[in-house]
Amino acid sequence: MKNLILEIYSTLLKRFGPQNWWPGDSPLEIAIGAILTQNTNWKNVEKAIENLKKKGLIDVDRILETPENELRELIRPSGFFNIKLRRLLNFIEFLKSHGGLDGLKKLPLHELRKKLLAVGGIGFETADSIMLYALEKPVFVVDAYTRRFLKRHGIIRGNEKYDEIRELFEKNLPRDVELFKEYHALIVKLGKVYCKSKPVCDNCPLNREKFWRVEDESNSDLRG
Ligand code: SF4
Repeated sequence: MKNLILEIYSTLLKRFGPQNWWPGDSPLEIAIGAILTQNTNWKNVEKAIENLKKKGLIDVDRILETPENELRELIRPSGFFNIKLRRLLNFIEFLKSHGGLDGLKKLPLHELRKKLLAVGGIGFETADSIMLYALEKPVFVVDAYTRRFLKRHGIIRGNEKYDEIRELFEKNLPRDVELFKEYHALIVKLGKVYCKSKPVCDNCPLNREKFWRVEDESNSDLRG
């Protein structure tokens, strides 16, 4: 499995090149982006972040001083703005009480993850995105694209828990933050270009015999 997981990485990197994720000028901006991107596309998040930036609000104290109505309007482009405002404020209050991102960074990895997951509205993918991209912790981010291509290739059954899939990567890769960042970004690229809801297997870099793990009839029509 180790070789397979690494080989998928090098194949994607060779085809797509480095993605240099996550876009953002500061760790706090990255963390805010990870919260606002839930259930929407990145273009909408960019608009919301731009609004916050224009007002100088990529700042824990300044967000907490700003009236909720104003914040709601600024993040409106990201959709589900009432829910996201609550989640954003939960996270910012959490940051404030833990000495900001610098304070969080000092916590042991397991404690940090547990605390993040206890913040209202922060699930596994968001917590791990914040840990990896904003806090530079070696945690692999699993998303729907990851689950989809692994299942199609028979590498997972598809009903595994989030942490089982995360561990599949973490146990079979060197514990390297930059590699984890790049790998997740490459999977997103794969999901957007080839492994869409209707897969475009022709010319996909993963459509090679060695990447198909099981003789699964449901996959047979995808194979090249
Ligand atoms: S070969 Fe097909 S199923 Fe596999 S990753 Fe590419 S698009 Fe998805």
